[in-house]
Amino acid sequence: MNTLDPYTLFMIVLTVLLIVYMYLETRKRPTRTEYVTRELLVCEGCGFQVERDFEPGDFIGLVKGKCPRCGRELKIKGIYSVDKSKVLKAS
Ligand SMILES: [Zn+2]
Repeated sequence: MNTLDPYTLFMIVLTVLLIVYMYLETRKRPTRTEYVTRELLVCEGCGFQVERDFEPGDFIGLVKGKCPRCGRELKIKGIYSVDKSKVLKAS
């Protein structure tokens, strides 16, 4: 008697495929979107804008650094979360 008839073989293949599928599905999960907090600095004088990583203690309206163009104050105009993959590697 053949112990590995086509039906049994089919069931084994199906089970293996299911396991592989589930394994691949669980491996996909960690690639969910990660968010980073960024802040937008705007120059009061010339309108120069620069985006930086948010630092604890920062708030909207805080003067942070000087404008590289005109030397006036840079103020935080916005703080927001963005998709990490969409953040361009700044300088
Ligand atoms: Zn400026």
